[in-house]
Amino acid sequence: MSKVFLIGAGPGDPELMTLKAARALRLADVVLIDELVNRGCLAHARSDARIIEVGKRGGCASTPQAFIEKLMVLHSREGKTVARLKGGDPFIFGRGGEEAEKLRSCGIDVEVIPGITAGTAVPAAAGIPLTHRDIAHGVTFLTGHTSESEPDWKALVRSGMTLVIYMGLRNAERIASRLRSAGMDPRTPACVIENGTLRSQRHQASTLAELSGAGFSGPAIVVVGEVASFARVLAAEPAARAA
Ligand code: SAH
Repeated sequence: MSKVFLIGAGPGDPELMTLKAARALRLADVVLIDELVNRGCLAHARSDARIIEVGKRGGCASTPQAFIEKLMVLHSREGKTVARLKGGDPFIFGRGGEEAEKLRSCGIDVEVIPGITAGTAVPAAAGIPLTHRDIAHGVTFLTGHTSESEPDWKALVRSGMTLVIYMGLRNAERIASRLRSAGMDPRTPACVIENGTLRSQRHQASTLAELSGAGFSGPAIVVVGEVASFARVLAAEPAARAA
């Protein structure tokens, strides 16, 4: 029976895709690839596989979610093995949960292949340990896309945990002001990291008071917490970073 693989392609550098993801990709007749996924990952697809680009970048022209789900169902019902290649981990801010639900409700077999999420890989690539003995006892992942509902900022501040914010670039200043209003010390270290794990990776370390997304345009992770002060002062060029 045909199957849909929901595959996490990792945070950017194609070498950060897992062996299992590469193996599943080799089985696919049809590959639906998200915009944020590095095209280098397609080196593991078969040369006769049909590659379908399904851009979904916030604000830009994108393929509606319902259409993507329909494509997966259609190809799968034709007996094709489908790989849905998503950035990072499919179940972290990737709508993978919705897609798995939809496919299963259509009676389609789904296998989820976890990936390395940007929230852990990108800070690591900038030299930031998300947890650190005596400094950070835990970490919270949240979205900066908070137009519909705001998180409990006071609870986040009280937790003392490192905050890792996905999709927070456009709202960075607003997030910083919410955290300050909720009682966070304006001197708390913060860092914006763009294009993490890629050669074009850049970061800006600051304090919460100065946190800003200005000057960045690529996908970026915002880290707030004492550990953000570990960000490399100089953007050293690791030998093993992909294009
Ligand atoms: N499922 C993905 C996240 C999708 S949401 C994962 O697990 O990583 C997309 C957001 O992820 C971007 O807006 C950005 O906040 C973050 N992101 C993805 N790749 C990134 C990269 N290479 N560098 C910095 N942030 C990245």
